[in-house]
Amino acid sequence: MTRESDAGFESESESESEVEFDFEPSERVQAVPPSGIRRFFEIAEERDEVISLGVGEPDFAAPWAARDAAITSLEQGKTSYTANRGMRELREAIADYADDRFDLDYDPGEEIIVTAGASEAVDLAFRAFVDPGDTVAVAQPSYISYEPGVIFAGGEVLPVPTYREDDFRLTVDALEAAGADEADLLVLCYPNNPTGAIMRETDLEPIAEFAREHDLLVLSDEIYAELTYDGDGEHTSIATLEGMRERTVVFNGFSKAHAMTGLRLGYALAPADAVGAMNKIHQYAMLSAPTTAQHAALEALDSCGDEVRDMVDQYDRRRQFVLSRFREIGMDVFEARGAFYCFPEVPEGWTSEEFAEELLREQGVAVVPGDVFGTGGEGHLRVSYATGLADLREALGRIEAFVDEHAEGSEG
Ligand code: PMP
Repeated sequence: MTRESDAGFESESESESEVEFDFEPSERVQAVPPSGIRRFFEIAEERDEVISLGVGEPDFAAPWAARDAAITSLEQGKTSYTANRGMRELREAIADYADDRFDLDYDPGEEIIVTAGASEAVDLAFRAFVDPGDTVAVAQPSYISYEPGVIFAGGEVLPVPTYREDDFRLTVDALEAAGADEADLLVLCYPNNPTGAIMRETDLEPIAEFAREHDLLVLSDEIYAELTYDGDGEHTSIATLEGMRERTVVFNGFSKAHAMTGLRLGYALAPADAVGAMNKIHQYAMLSAPTTAQHAALEALDSCGDEVRDMVDQYDRRRQFVLSRFREIGMDVFEARGAFYCFPEVPEGWTSEEFAEELLREQGVAVVPGDVFGTGGEGHLRVSYATGLADLREALGRIEAFVDEHAEGSEG
């Protein structure tokens, strides 16, 4: 709500100094604490030669053919809105892609909505399906936007911890212990930001059974689906398991696999009723996702599969390098198999925040303290390897120097 001050409305010349207008944020906005990461940016700005392993976006530019398609669309004057749900041709391409890659079978007419990033799709789902007071179970540690999104929608988050000893996979034991049987929705993110965990079909089966048994709507953020580095390299969507398609909304987009973060394009796949409800918000809040980006995305799906595979190979090489270096340094780290993050433990005697802050101050390496990702994150760091190998090599050298120096300090 907004409030005018008691001074009321004065004449124009006086109004500047005497009329105060208090933009008092709504209770929902006030309920979300400010981001804890801001301080790190401030420290980073004070230092030269900071290497950031803190960002959650590819260091690659979007494939050239996708950029070229965007340019051509602009040259051709394609600068109008599209259909609310996105260009029909793009939805058809998404339907083919989702089917080919992940066995997800959705009708481009009614079961796909193209959004301004996966972020918009996630927000639409919270607003479409969460009533005030509803409980949304969120497997944590997790991407930082879910909790605020739930609060903005008027719901309450029920954190469901995942544990290092389970390789950060969600278990039914954890769901039961948290009381998620009483929840209305369940949010999953695999491959996971920030842990890099994946869940295979056999891991997802019991979760699916739990969701069916307790009638949960599942929101499955699969934006890192392509970035899976596991044996056969295949990602399984929970929506492909028996009885799950009808209760799941799947999110994906072009930011990660296609390195198109700045083009802001994502989508949701879900049964027609669910997409209809989300579109009801989207058509008023957004009208349509950015048109130029939709042209780029269409080309990305049509012709950029090789570039995606090449980027995934490079992430995998970096992943192996970073994991092996952390082990050499003596920092315990589990075998992350997805996304572009690993999640090492901080040495004893440090909190995540202290370690990350001192590392940045002393060595100019930025990583994200695990506690910002919710329950179970404390004691870890999120380290992104969406950075070239040369920088990774240098950064890991600095982390080693930092750890050695402090270990010597504690002995002496
Ligand atoms: N989900 C997850 C798990 C993410 O890590 C991110 C980006 N960091 C998003 C969604 C948002 O992606 P987009 O750029 O498509 O909005």
